[in-house]
Amino acid sequence: MASLVLYDNYARSLREFRPLDPQGPVGLYTCGPTVYDYQHIGNYRTFLFEDLLKRVLLWNGYRVRHVMNITDVGHLTSDADTGEDKMEKGARRTGRSAWQIAALYTQAFVDDIRALNILPADVLSRATDHIAEQIAFIVDLEQRGYTYRTSDGIYFDTSRQADYGYLARLDRAGLEAGKRVDIGEKRNATDFALWKFSPPGSTRQMEWDSPWGKGFPGWHIECSAMAQRYLGNWFDIHCGGEDHIPVHHTNEIAQTEARAGTRLANFWMHGYFLLANDAKMAKSAGEFLRIAALAERGYDPLAFRYLCLTGHYRTQLNFTWEALDAAATGLGRMRTAFHALPSGADATIPADLLERFTALVNDDLNAPRALALAWETLRGDLPAPLRRAALARFDDVFGLGLAQWQPVEAAIPEAITALAQARADARKARNWAEADRLRAALQDAGYDVEDTPGGYALKQK
Ligand code: AMP
Ligand code: ZN
Repeated sequence: MASLVLYDNYARSLREFRPLDPQGPVGLYTCGPTVYDYQHIGNYRTFLFEDLLKRVLLWNGYRVRHVMNITDVGHLTSDADTGEDKMEKGARRTGRSAWQIAALYTQAFVDDIRALNILPADVLSRATDHIAEQIAFIVDLEQRGYTYRTSDGIYFDTSRQADYGYLARLDRAGLEAGKRVDIGEKRNATDFALWKFSPPGSTRQMEWDSPWGKGFPGWHIECSAMAQRYLGNWFDIHCGGEDHIPVHHTNEIAQTEARAGTRLANFWMHGYFLLANDAKMAKSAGEFLRIAALAERGYDPLAFRYLCLTGHYRTQLNFTWEALDAAATGLGRMRTAFHALPSGADATIPADLLERFTALVNDDLNAPRALALAWETLRGDLPAPLRRAALARFDDVFGLGLAQWQPVEAAIPEAITALAQARADARKARNWAEADRLRAALQDAGYDVEDTPGGYALKQK
């Protein structure tokens, strides 16, 4: 079988994937949503890439232990650790409490994940449920001499690590030399907050006691702490969107390396952005598209999933309504073709076909080419039950729910059902002339009516 090869952004190269523990499940950590607002379809492109990765791991026979965090505190409006906590800002915007909006948007996220047929994580952990772990982590870093205090918090001293920023190939000397941004009391431009003090004189909605006084954790520490809690210091794969490379993941690595001597994960993989009109799609920009907005326009959320499968996860994808239309058409055709195929009890899929599919998905998750193979199989000359069985297997990776889909009966207008009912009444009253007249009227309107033991059935002609 073709071995699984994945692109590791830490090594900046393709590497053969082998689980760290050949017996145990593959440890997978994916950075989750910041629940101060709804997630946009760009965020879901990243979650869909991660779901594809997980499904390909399962396809290869691995078990997967998937951990995802919910960021419900500490993500500031600026990556430079200044500005407001997004949760407190979201609370002000909506007139609800920070706790209420965390619950609201977490539920919305879970609903969207289900609509997109994304396999749920084994552990979905909230940052606010793991404050003790984060404090313990910072205490450890403090004891190892990696921290310092400013008037607004406890910071990580990145100058203590020779290879800080390696993941992003950061030019540290350049960053320090051209300190264009005001770094305040920070010692180095790349230093980041581990713990922020509650602003003096005001009470935050979300704050906790700590050895350094009341406050809240920085954004990066939650992932290091929760990954460590559920997967250990060194696990198989860590994922997120490409924007996480220079700051968030760089800092997660710094923290864990300082505490445990490991760089957290063996593979670092990133989903590249979904663009809107060739520009970055961002929640902070105000207007953004939600999965629900697609549904309101009559699109099946799985058409968006299909669209994402048509682009490789390591290239940016531009969202347009035309592209979504094409994806919806593709999905519709695939579903109809699949359902037209009969199933056969003893359908054994040819091994070479499965091997070809494996080679494609194992080539750094080449979904576009795997999708092309699915089409080729669907239109090919294998016996129909085999084509159906192959597509059903491939769909374990695509997640398009082919077998679950049912053709929707075209809705019959009320006026037509009324005519049919009137005809049934006329028959009951043995008024055959009227019944015939109504049958003719139905036929003129494009419907055949058949009498059945239970009443009648209407069929569009
Ligand atoms: P957030 O809720 O901002 O923490 O983001 C959730 C996930 O979506 C993270 O993995 C981000 O890297 C990712 N993300 C944010 N914007 C986009 C985008 N336009 N396209 C793809 N992924 C994105
Ligand atoms: Zn994270």
